[in-house]
Amino acid sequence: THAATVTPFDGRGRLADGSSLPLLANVGHATDARTAAAAGAEGVGLFRTEFCFLDRTDAPTVAEQVAAYRGVLAAFPGRKVVVRTLDAGSDKPLPFANADHEQNPALGVRGLRIARRNPQLLDDQLRALAEAASAESAHVEVMAPMIATVEEAREFAAAARAAGLERVGVMIETPSAAILAAEMFEVVDFVSLGTNDLTQYTLAADRLLGELGDLTDPWQPAVLRLIAAVGSAGRAANRAVGVCGEAGGDPALAPVLVGLGATSLSMTPRSLGRVAAALGALTPQQCRAAAEAALAAATAAEARAAAAVAIAR
Ligand code: PEP
Ligand code: MG
Repeated sequence: THAATVTPFDGRGRLADGSSLPLLANVGHATDARTAAAAGAEGVGLFRTEFCFLDRTDAPTVAEQVAAYRGVLAAFPGRKVVVRTLDAGSDKPLPFANADHEQNPALGVRGLRIARRNPQLLDDQLRALAEAASAESAHVEVMAPMIATVEEAREFAAAARAAGLERVGVMIETPSAAILAAEMFEVVDFVSLGTNDLTQYTLAADRLLGELGDLTDPWQPAVLRLIAAVGSAGRAANRAVGVCGEAGGDPALAPVLVGLGATSLSMTPRSLGRVAAALGALTPQQCRAAAEAALAAATAAEARAAAAVAIAR
């Protein structure tokens, strides 16, 4: 039936000219990671570590964390796994990390900001991650969520490197971080675009409110232009620019993201086949043409239509 149709994925994302475009998976725990590996994901572009601890009232110990992280890393021997430090707060509050009540939790102490109040939580997580990484063969990269300033990126990078983690990145999911992308590349090795939050914060529209769906749309030109700025900064710095928000799993938007400078896409495993098929039919030039057409649009609807026309040309 229609709903059950899943396009198979052969485990290697590429464009029509043969150039590779790694297609990675978003996972939350070891079971997810095994599903993603079975679906052919080339690695993990976003391991949402907070998903391991949603049922906890007290903070997990370092040993408990090592076990949870090793479970995910073990599903991808020899492959890249991008681990995100706890993104607790807002839509994913954790009792041991977040305050009971905040007036504006999406704008509150969430993501890396938790470490301001509780630096031990971040230190323990980085230590656990370094230990898990040395016990497994996966290539671990670590990144922080909800970065807004270069100081935050610099301090996170220093802490991660001090813990023994070598590849360090930040998520670009606030307009501030996107605008400062070139400066971010001076302090981290890679970035990953969190298009869900980047859209929420750019349009000032709650990503959980269905009735604002026209605003929480990553085709909004303001979002595309921020992504383009990050892509240009990445090209100039010769650094990786991943996308790990839902936008990367949309077969119509994926070519535009590649044209804007994304060097890998991470998505829910069931989207891998459709995105691989969409990208495999297009050359890098076609992706750039789609991106340029979308960038020139004044509205989300025009961006969608312009990208489709450019691709069909
Ligand atoms: C995002 O914001 O796009 C993202 C990937 O992070 P999360 O959905 O976990 O907030
Ligand atoms: Mg996010």
